[in-house]
Amino acid sequence: MLAMNYRGPHRVRADYDMPYPEILHPQDAIVKVLRSCICGSDLHLYHGLVPDTRVGSTFGHEFIGEIVDVGSAIQNLKTGDRVMVPFNIACGKCAFCRQELYGNCHESNPGATAVGGIFGYSHTAGGYNGGQAEYVRVPYADVGPVVIPEWMHADDAVLLTDVVPTGYQAAEMGGIQPGDTVVVFGAGPIGIMAAKCSWLFGAGRVIIIDHIDYRLEFAEKYAQCEAFNFNSIGDPVVFLKTITDSLGADVCIDAVGCEAAGNAVNTLTGRRMLLQGGSTTALHWAINGVKKGGIVSIVGVYGPIDSLIPIGNVVNKGITIRANQASVKRLLPRLIEHVESGVLDPKGLITHKVPLEEVSDAYHIFSSKLDNCIKAVLIPPS
Ligand code: NAD
Ligand code: ZN
Repeated sequence: MLAMNYRGPHRVRADYDMPYPEILHPQDAIVKVLRSCICGSDLHLYHGLVPDTRVGSTFGHEFIGEIVDVGSAIQNLKTGDRVMVPFNIACGKCAFCRQELYGNCHESNPGATAVGGIFGYSHTAGGYNGGQAEYVRVPYADVGPVVIPEWMHADDAVLLTDVVPTGYQAAEMGGIQPGDTVVVFGAGPIGIMAAKCSWLFGAGRVIIIDHIDYRLEFAEKYAQCEAFNFNSIGDPVVFLKTITDSLGADVCIDAVGCEAAGNAVNTLTGRRMLLQGGSTTALHWAINGVKKGGIVSIVGVYGPIDSLIPIGNVVNKGITIRANQASVKRLLPRLIEHVESGVLDPKGLITHKVPLEEVSDAYHIFSSKLDNCIKAVLIPPS
């Protein structure tokens, strides 16, 4: 079958002779992919920042599709169902799943101490192949997948598998109180959605910070927030103090994560610099720019192990840090309602629809932030 094939850092290609997935367990289903996305999280893999990312693997944790085969134990799904598949692979039964911490499932990534299984996200997340393919195996298929309502557009559905729940959970973890000033670092799909969702929790002011002007302009319109280029405001921490009566922001959200070598910006000088691992600049700004007693919510992903943070300031300022992979299945019922009522318009983030055959170009465009790209969707041949 046709699928994305990882060949090493900055090298992915479309391959026509990748093996078809098979039912390996009675709780598996096979999904024929209708749409999959490239996520900022895929860029950490693409940039070679995530350990144990194996050549020959297929990425893609954001996808929807049609059930074409089910294992003997599956009760909730049948062939022909069109489903959205949360990026977390969750058993539904372990101690963490029972608390709806589906991103921390103990069974889907045995032996790991942190993250549960994730589709197409290296052997540190269980070694599962992902959905940037014609077909994909979905383990524990009675637990995660949700049948797409008849009225829902496929482009909205695919963004409900990660972007919308992650942006929403970023705002939720921020513990936003009515009238709060919320500052979001990163104007990618996740940051823009976090900014949009911050209003749903009663924010009084929402600010987004990035250094790519087209993304800032997009965010300003889509999330009705203020947007600033960190190259134009001097030290972002000083800037945030200036606009908050010297107090700092009530809530800071890190929707950046580690930035690849060469993309990183030095915290002190604001200049670009080369790093071996990944930059933690945005997280520094979030911790230093939040008020005393404030909350820093992190959804940005940190793949490398050498991600140092200013932990002294966390202690001295009495900051609460909340962070996790989004628990997609927990949030889907309320997010589906928000899409139905028109409160959220996920598909408005999609700027590029690319045939799966051109996956290599799509990675290049999304990674290099070319052609005003916000979110790229891959379409397999029908
Ligand atoms: P993206 O690459 O499209 O966007 C990241 C943005 O951050 C870019 O626009 C970039 O210019 C900007 N940026 C870089 N350095 C910055 C800095 N110092 N300050 C402010 N902005 C800066 O990625 P995305 O798809 O929006 O994802 C964002 C992050 O969220 C990634 O780290 C991704 O791995 C993570 N993520 C986490 C979850 C989760 O469940 N926790 C789910 C999806 C994505
Ligand atoms: Zn994602």
